[in-house]
Amino acid sequence: MARWPYGYCPDCGGSLDIFCQITSTHALCPHCGAHHYRDPKTGAGVLIEDAGRLLLVRRAVDPRRGTWHVPSGFVDYGESPQDAARREVLEETGLQVELDNLFRVLAYTDDERGAGIFILFKAHITGGAPVAADDVDKVGFFSPQELPPTEALAFKNTRLIVAAWRQAQQES
Ligand SMILES: [Zn+2]
Repeated sequence: MARWPYGYCPDCGGSLDIFCQITSTHALCPHCGAHHYRDPKTGAGVLIEDAGRLLLVRRAVDPRRGTWHVPSGFVDYGESPQDAARREVLEETGLQVELDNLFRVLAYTDDERGAGIFILFKAHITGGAPVAADDVDKVGFFSPQELPPTEALAFKNTRLIVAAWRQAQQES
């Protein structure tokens, strides 16, 4: 079981140490009674196909520096997943996109920054030219035959997403 990550109550500053072993998702402060939940991170991204090729970006930062992922990032506090998906793809690739539909909602536990929920939209390009920026150093379009090898894909969900896309290409 994951250890509760905070030693002190954010409300009153009292020690939460004695609750560390009880649950990894919830702590009840013994001093002020506040409930604290360990919430999943929320990520949003886009699946973009252009002329039969899938858009992937290469991560320039840790975790998983040098591996490929779909354009994506964390949803900011108060931001919608749709706005986050459009913002991230613009920041990472310089491409403006329009979202078409929800493609997948996936849970993950293999990111060192914490467990989370990943919301992936299908999207299409409406403007801009592909230039790697922000936390990626390469933007690539891949046909099913040219996709990076599985071990070069960043996360377990990246492998699921790429496999689902490749499968759909073969069936169409
Ligand atoms: Zn407290």
